[in-house]
Amino acid sequence: MSYQLADRVHKVLPSFTLQMATRAAEMRSDGIDVINFSVGEPDFNTPSHIIDAGKKAMDNGFTKYTAGPGMIEFRKAICKKLKRENGIQYEPADILVSNGEKQSLYNVCQALFGEGDEVVVFRPYWVSFPEFVRLADAEPVLVNTIAENNFEPDFDHLSKKISSSIKGVILNSPSNPTGGIWSKDAILQVLRLAKEQNWVVISDECYERLVYDGEFISTEKLNRDYNIGAAVVTCLSLSKTYAMTGWRIGYAAGPTDIIKAMSKIQGQATSCANSIGQMAGIEALTGDQSCVQEFKTAFKKRRDLIVELLNNLPGVSCLVPGGAFYAFPNFSSYLNRDISGNKFKDTFDISEYILDRANVVTVPGDGFGAPGHIRFSYATSTKIINEGVSRVKNALIEIT
Ligand code: PLP
Repeated sequence: MSYQLADRVHKVLPSFTLQMATRAAEMRSDGIDVINFSVGEPDFNTPSHIIDAGKKAMDNGFTKYTAGPGMIEFRKAICKKLKRENGIQYEPADILVSNGEKQSLYNVCQALFGEGDEVVVFRPYWVSFPEFVRLADAEPVLVNTIAENNFEPDFDHLSKKISSSIKGVILNSPSNPTGGIWSKDAILQVLRLAKEQNWVVISDECYERLVYDGEFISTEKLNRDYNIGAAVVTCLSLSKTYAMTGWRIGYAAGPTDIIKAMSKIQGQATSCANSIGQMAGIEALTGDQSCVQEFKTAFKKRRDLIVELLNNLPGVSCLVPGGAFYAFPNFSSYLNRDISGNKFKDTFDISEYILDRANVVTVPGDGFGAPGHIRFSYATSTKIINEGVSRVKNALIEIT
């Protein structure tokens, strides 16, 4: 057999957050008592009324292909949700339902970018953003953020990076991995620049309902309220809000022609999102919403706990993340420190040490373009948070 893999396979990085989760699963199956802070999904079950809607769909034989961009009833429900919660009016033709938001993000990059194009990605970034851009044969332009400022953009750095090759910018507030939420002014500044430079704004708002301090405002809402006129594609998900990661339901809302182009690409890739998930999605968006508040209350409690515990670790500091379910403490005081003749050269080494010594899985910030930081997901119980951070503390005490 003789074959060659395509160049794009070599260009793209594997999802190392998934690798960390796999590592945790392997250790567990070897009988090791592992604590996993690498998970990127709620630990709650999908609420029962949503599960029932999925079961009912199957029982009623709703197990066939749907319209490519999504069932019209679901797209109507999404429009109602966007009006009710985000204050933005859309028509079903402006909506594309995908197999998870991830596919919407992939589609939008495929529809808008190509060889020679560049796309602004803010650092720290969710691991998939640069890869979506690369998979579209374009190049990410990495722009710094300011940690002390909720990881808002370093606008001086951004202005130095502006070029005619840039065709788009990706925003993610609340952010994975930092949990940071950008202020209205920061988003407006990006929108104004995008309008001036003709960049399409891709706003990943999957953590919209996990905002603990203050209020969430959609990028497109600001775009409209301030009459900026930038082209904004908003990508959203049911995964985090309704604990539905495995159902693979997400969607995009944006200018009709961009949505149509995304739909064309999706139609040839996966035809449509899964029918049962779409039926469950209608129930999620239109049914009882009390689960959303319940999840948020639990996450806020866990956030307050983990931030306090992390700030008690020797040599570690952790800002209070305003949203999502990640804490992103700074471990840079451990870099280049001599430990029994070895040095931690980056956070991969520190995470590895924590894994070896404490059986605790974390995600090194270097993988998110954030040297010195380590991501701790707090989508787990307070008991596990207490136990896990205490183990990390003991491991760090050994070397301090
Ligand atoms: N965007 C961000 C920032 C995420 O963290 C994730 C999942 O971890 C997604 C998008 C993907 O969501 P979905 O499950 O809808 O594909």
